[in-house]
Amino acid sequence: MSKKIQAIRGMNDCLPTDSGVWQYLESSLRQVVASYGYQEIRTPIVESTDLFKRSIGEVTDIVEKEMYTFADRNSDSLTLRPEGTASVVRAGNEHGLLYNQQQRLWYMGPMFRHERPQKGRYRQFHQFGVEAFGLAGPDIDAEVILLSARLWKKLGISQYLTLEINSLGSLEARAAYKEQLVTFLKTRESELDEDSLRRLQSNPLRVLDSKNPQVQNVVKDAPSLMDCLDAESAQHFQGLCERLDSLGIQYRVNPALVRGLDYYNRTVFEWVTDSLGAQGTVCAGGRYDGLVEQLGGKATQGVGFAMGLERLVLMLQTLELDKNLVSAVDIYVTAMDASVELYARQLSETLRDSLPQLRVMDHCGAGNFKKQMKRADQSGASIALIIGEDEMSSQQVTVKYLRQQLPQKTVLISELAQFAGSLFNL
Ligand code: ATP
Ligand code: MG
Repeated sequence: MSKKIQAIRGMNDCLPTDSGVWQYLESSLRQVVASYGYQEIRTPIVESTDLFKRSIGEVTDIVEKEMYTFADRNSDSLTLRPEGTASVVRAGNEHGLLYNQQQRLWYMGPMFRHERPQKGRYRQFHQFGVEAFGLAGPDIDAEVILLSARLWKKLGISQYLTLEINSLGSLEARAAYKEQLVTFLKTRESELDEDSLRRLQSNPLRVLDSKNPQVQNVVKDAPSLMDCLDAESAQHFQGLCERLDSLGIQYRVNPALVRGLDYYNRTVFEWVTDSLGAQGTVCAGGRYDGLVEQLGGKATQGVGFAMGLERLVLMLQTLELDKNLVSAVDIYVTAMDASVELYARQLSETLRDSLPQLRVMDHCGAGNFKKQMKRADQSGASIALIIGEDEMSSQQVTVKYLRQQLPQKTVLISELAQFAGSLFNL
């Protein structure tokens, strides 16, 4: 036998056992963004390497060590997108969607980062994100946060998520803070790891982002960026907090939250959970007022977030909220005699005509009662319709409940659609 070819490490197949949860998550996301008037944008998976270098920043984990970069046949340097914002801004500039306009956009799709694969961290993973352009105030910051909170509510996971927010201020305020931070970090140099020492030179704010507990221990004593905010950013932040307060969104101000990408300013936020172990951030975002101009467009404000879908799927599975999403079938239709096969098939077709959302599976491959009921059970359906010659001649079906201890019953064909509609809330 020849050797089996396997998937690339850290890149997962989504098997039928999981695709139900994924579809549920994806359709919930689409529904929530639509309810806020956001529109979808789709961009290519491959972009020029420069796009990510110029936006995410040269001295970041992503650009330094995580990108899938390769030369194509013309020797152009291309990169599999590691995130969505840079591409959306590139497309927005290219098609004139941004300058002097307001846009509320969303995207969903695979992203690629060469990281060490572990639970909740993969090399191909999926993000859903929103980006709002041309809006300067804290009202839109509050809106994108509110939108994410609505999704948690819809998924039933609100109580497992905490919102952390911070403000990075203006570029100037950050430059002033940087000096204070460097002075402080130099007094604790011996406690820093190699990465942090390097970043102390190249991009000191990144030290705040370190995941090394020893470095985090130093960081907790560092001066706070909050104390260096420029007046306008402080006012913006206050405006956001007031809105969150009055909308009933709870949050924690975390002064060490700086985010792993260079393009943010002012508001940054993360939704974190402790139900996933180390990979606790499920959604992260913030304001990036300089990015559009940095990528060659005319200055336009932006704010958005991205959430990791694998982490949300894991949460739903860990909390066992995916239980009734696994099944793909509501009704399994049997045909107990060869003579009723076509009759049964016509009945299923009529059901699909009347109730397009109803998921009906027909038994194929004949077999006795026992075999057909075994397949019905395996399908995950809630009920089986038993159809034999008796049923055909009396224009009825026998309904057998597969998941509940209820006696079987007969339903007239003429009342079947109504029966199924009320059983499945359609
Ligand atoms: P982390 O600190 O966990 O590495 P990050 O700051 O690099 O996250 P972002 O670039 O902000 O992540 O991406 C937004 C979200 O995408 C994250 O909060 C997370 O839910 C998800 N995500 C990021 N990288 C991965 C990955 N390699 N595998 C799965 N999900 C990921
Ligand atoms: Mg990362």
